[in-house]
Amino acid sequence: MWHVVMYSAGIGSWSAAMRVAEKHGTDNLILLFTDVKHKLDQHPHRGEDQDAYRFLVEGAKVIGGRLEWISRGKHIWQTFEDNRYMGNSRVDPCSRELKREMAREWVEKHFKPDEVTLYIGIDWTEMHRCASNEKAWYPYKVEFPMCEQPYLVKSDMCRWAESLGVKRPRLYELGFSHNNCGGFCVKAGLGQFYNLLKTMPERYAYHESKQEELFSVLGKRVPFLRQTVNRKLRYLSLKEFREQVEAGNQIDMFDIGGCGCFGDVEEGDQYATVAG
Ligand code: SF4
Repeated sequence: MWHVVMYSAGIGSWSAAMRVAEKHGTDNLILLFTDVKHKLDQHPHRGEDQDAYRFLVEGAKVIGGRLEWISRGKHIWQTFEDNRYMGNSRVDPCSRELKREMAREWVEKHFKPDEVTLYIGIDWTEMHRCASNEKAWYPYKVEFPMCEQPYLVKSDMCRWAESLGVKRPRLYELGFSHNNCGGFCVKAGLGQFYNLLKTMPERYAYHESKQEELFSVLGKRVPFLRQTVNRKLRYLSLKEFREQVEAGNQIDMFDIGGCGCFGDVEEGDQYATVAG
């Protein structure tokens, strides 16, 4: 029996992989990483945070098994342009194409359902996501090691990695709750984008310019950031949000949103998985 862990740069999937290695050994263990850019693309703001790649590789060495690094060869803004759709918290062409579909194709190509168990780094605080992931991966069997006791929170998991000599991903230290897409996510809320603007203004500027380019291609402005003012919901672009921050407007810092690249499955989506 083979064991394939959906291995993102997050601490949840690292911890899940550690538990799988401890339970089943590493001879038949594969850590499947689906990159959100071309592997050779060195652009500082595309794909994962540079330090996430460091964590990914160092973490894999400690776990053991084989790191399988796959990529569609394109980045998230290309998926929005190709689909002529600005991703958002409900519909995410980026993770559908670059994560879920790619992982599914790879698994189907290499294993029949009775040859492999799949593992996803959802933790016990996200248990509500397990059922949709099991359904999406059917007939493959999926397990969620971090939903089992002893229950750990992210800070416990980070300490675990550091006790083995692997420094936690820097995005956690910068106040991000996820280590996906370099702190950017179309599912994230205003609080996360405020943090992105304050901690990595160049990265924010990159995404702002890509969004403006996309709006030009689409011929319409279809932003994904949501803001409630006087009980009315409105959508605003990255440019408009930055201008609000620069004007000193009050920002809802608790609106972190639902980043978690693999986690939220589009309606009718066959290929769900969850990143840590
Ligand atoms: S982290 Fe967010 S933006 Fe990046 S691929 Fe996942 S859903 Fe898309």
